[in-house]
Amino acid sequence: MTIKDRPARITHWIDGKPWNGTAERSGEVFDPATGAVSSTVDFASPAEVDEAVASARHAWQGWRDTSLATRTAVLFAFRELFSSARSELAAIITSEHGKVLSDAAGEVQRALESVDFACGIPHLLKGEFSENASTGLDVYSVRQPLGVVGVISPFNFPAMVPLWFVPNAIACGNAVVLKPSEKDPSSATFIAELWARAGLPAGVFNVVHGDKVAVDRMLEHPDVKAVSFVGSTPVARYVYRTGTGNGKRVQALGGAKNHMVVLADADLDLAADAAVSAGFGSAGERCMAVSVVVAVEEIADELVAKIAERIPRLRVGDGRRPDSEMGPLITAAHRDRVAGYLDRGTAEGASLVVDGRAHGVEGGRDGFWLGPCLFDRVEPDMSIYTDEIFGPVLSVVRRPTYASAVELVNANPYGNGTAIFTNDGGAVRRFRHDVEVGMVGVNVPIPVPVGYYSFGGWKDSLFGDTHAYGPEGVRFYTRAKVVTSRWPGSSHGGIDLGFPHNT
Ligand code: NAD
Repeated sequence: MTIKDRPARITHWIDGKPWNGTAERSGEVFDPATGAVSSTVDFASPAEVDEAVASARHAWQGWRDTSLATRTAVLFAFRELFSSARSELAAIITSEHGKVLSDAAGEVQRALESVDFACGIPHLLKGEFSENASTGLDVYSVRQPLGVVGVISPFNFPAMVPLWFVPNAIACGNAVVLKPSEKDPSSATFIAELWARAGLPAGVFNVVHGDKVAVDRMLEHPDVKAVSFVGSTPVARYVYRTGTGNGKRVQALGGAKNHMVVLADADLDLAADAAVSAGFGSAGERCMAVSVVVAVEEIADELVAKIAERIPRLRVGDGRRPDSEMGPLITAAHRDRVAGYLDRGTAEGASLVVDGRAHGVEGGRDGFWLGPCLFDRVEPDMSIYTDEIFGPVLSVVRRPTYASAVELVNANPYGNGTAIFTNDGGAVRRFRHDVEVGMVGVNVPIPVPVGYYSFGGWKDSLFGDTHAYGPEGVRFYTRAKVVTSRWPGSSHGGIDLGFPHNT
């Protein structure tokens, strides 16, 4: 192998530049559409995490005292650079994640919303002021940054999920250490370069690549004050318990099993289009993907037929081809795990209406392919219902009534997103009140909130109290301080050992 043929090496970004050490461990990064190894990525040891945290801790001293005007200028500069680099970043995402280019471009666009929001930080950090709360005494509040904060992100949104957190954290005056997914690490490094070009001081944003070793060090490091995590539920639960056990503020967003309820009066063509788009977009590798359609029995046959007739027309192929609508899965192992559910679901008694293994593919022979799959007559005790499959496998569960459909949704341990399809305003009103899920769509299958609201599920889809990005993100990355103040010139009333009361 010549040097030219060797896969590129992706390394950490510490103190405003690429790390120049030698890693003890590394991983392979694949092009999922061809199955080829495209690069290797360094895995951080605890010592490299310590180096990044030390750089962040040092940089934070200056950044926390940097004026809002200067911080905002850096954010606007980053916004401009990021916006100009949208196509380049989308291409990077497609090359490592596999999602089709238009989908990657959508991810980048949604990431931009979080940057836009953080550009308004002077307004968002305004405190409160009460003049003369007691005679001659004023009370006011400020919100201050926490220090070094850690962000740990999943493979399925390598740009958007880190940027749910990083702009708010930086805008609030914190320094960040990001540990992105080791499966598609290049977007994080690309974003780090943009921050540096935007004028962010070295050390305010660092990237350490790696796996559990790096995560564990971040969770125990005394200088990491808060952690934002997104990933699967077992790891989210572990991160939440370990991080909070070590005294950190933690928000840990987990997995999902999103239900789309279709009532008898719904527009069934709209519902079928939505189920196909939200079930198979990004090959089902979205935390807000619809994985379960709950069809009221009366219209179930018709809805299943409409979904099934749409699937063969989907173009599955290399995400770089302009006509591809669905790309490959992230790794061969994940593709095999997802495909394993097809035999398991059939053995459990569900009816496999469309078997994606037979779907035609326009892509590399060794790519990690699986076409869209549809199960009907799925029951809640089957593994295809209980497990988060995270692939292009859509299950239809039939229920006799609206009430039994909502009961099913609420009994599920996950509570990330859900949707209802109907023309009945009264049913919608009941649904949005009754459903135990954090994000609700009404005739909208993927109700990801806009950047000036916040994103978060309920139950096993989120551990912690605060949702991601938007106003809740600003609260997560700051702590409140309330000042009670009197100045000479107003009477203090002399010595009084009683508990102070306001008069
Ligand atoms: P994952 O849990 O395997 O990995 C997430 C992160 O944790 C990665 O950075 C990974 O390196 C690290 N990690 C993995 N195993 C670990 C361990 N044992 N200890 C410590 N760290 C570990 O998740 P993934 O496969 O990268 O992403 C897919 C999952 O993320 C799905 O479950 C999906 O639903 C979920 N997700 C949730 C949301 C949300 O907002 N709720 C958004 C996107 C993805």
